[in-house]
Amino acid sequence: MEKLTVALLGGGVVGSEVARTLLADAETLAERVGTRLELTAVAVRDASRERPGIPAELLTDDPETAIRGADIVIELMGGIEPARSLILAALEGGSSVVTANKALLAQSFPELLEAADASGVRLEFEAAVAGAIPIVRPLQASLAGDRVTRVMGIVNGTTNYILDQMAREGWGFAHALRTAQELGYAEADPTADVAGLDAAAKAAIIASLAFQVPVSMDDVHVEGITGVSADMIATAEAQGFTIKLLAICERLEGENPGVSARVYPALVSREHPLAAVSGAFNAVFVEAESAGSLMFYGQGAGGAPTSSAVLGDLVSVARRKVLGGRGQAPAQIRGTGRVLPIADVDTRYQITLEVSDRPGVLLAVAEALAAEGVSVELASQTQFENPQADEPRAKLVIATHTARESALAATVENLAALDAVASVRSVLRIEGS
Ligand code: NAP
Repeated sequence: MEKLTVALLGGGVVGSEVARTLLADAETLAERVGTRLELTAVAVRDASRERPGIPAELLTDDPETAIRGADIVIELMGGIEPARSLILAALEGGSSVVTANKALLAQSFPELLEAADASGVRLEFEAAVAGAIPIVRPLQASLAGDRVTRVMGIVNGTTNYILDQMAREGWGFAHALRTAQELGYAEADPTADVAGLDAAAKAAIIASLAFQVPVSMDDVHVEGITGVSADMIATAEAQGFTIKLLAICERLEGENPGVSARVYPALVSREHPLAAVSGAFNAVFVEAESAGSLMFYGQGAGGAPTSSAVLGDLVSVARRKVLGGRGQAPAQIRGTGRVLPIADVDTRYQITLEVSDRPGVLLAVAEALAAEGVSVELASQTQFENPQADEPRAKLVIATHTARESALAATVENLAALDAVASVRSVLRIEGS
């Protein structure tokens, strides 16, 4: 084989890095693949704009023509359309596809895999989850002979940076977000990150791969970090926890089997490896029956780190083309397991209450918990200064044992209705213990 042609859709943060490396490292890549990779086009919205390191003659605003006849198409445009139609057209036309598009995969995973399978070509997407960190391949290949039971990931660097700065500097959410934006860690519109949507797309992909069940973005329970206050972080720290936005994917056995995918800010014990993941770094903690616990750590975003994962996929796909043979999509997500709603999941809560500092309050609180069958693992009470209150107040922090989420949510409602409870100051789930 004399060469393989590669069409690139997107020349932005990741695409431009991929294009430059493809051109600059052509010889090394040719040695690894066994043939030359020829970049034939870089499709962008504005082809007249100069892109450093990318020859102007490669730029085009016509992605449909760019993909025609390409051996391999790399999709780095992002978004749902036209990315979905272009990928489907490429797969149906016999091109293998490499993409980093988590939003699209979280919506159309089965459709894309089936299209790849039907054409006997490959669809690779290592960069779609946690940037440079190899997690897709471990889940679909290295651990294929094991049984993954749970995956917990810090898969959004922006929110990890914000929470980390709040804990280190004592900042409020708004100040930490502003700093993240000034430093380029957060977008001008940070909604996808801070509302947990970016992490939810990754959770959908991880759960689909780990449990071989199609899980879409709509199946993922999502809570973002906008409600996390400096006070909540201080309480967490005082109790030996750190707050992390976690994407949790779990296989649930027992009477109500199924899988769960959820994203929320959670308390993680300071002893847990995920608690040490600071700044904008990502980490994915995998628990499997035979392998035990595994942790994958590194840079989850950025042009160069993400392009590393894209180019790894490209070399793998290209090698397969050189060696010949059917290049079927290796991901199998045709299982029939149920995706459970959050209410059916077992979790632990830490509930922080502002209560009247008078006798009988603890008993009333204990009764409200017992009414839903929730037992307390730890309770601690400290004096609480509330200048607006006309009575002495206390802060009561309760950590529950594991209980059904629906019972825990009902417990919080019961507590809020008690005379002795002035306010429910925060409710956070405890994970990883
Ligand atoms: P980006 O900087 O916004 O780049 C998008 C590129 O696609 C631009 O070059 C844009 O052209 C082009 N494009 C968009 N719509 C187009 C259309 N309809 N027709 C032709 N070209 C079009 O995005 P990115 O940050 O590189 O992200 C690319 C993908 O990688 C996304 O799926 C993202 O989720 C994923 N990803 C990114 C990171 C990261 O750190 N950035 C990490 C992991 C995964 P113009 O330049 O002319 O506007």
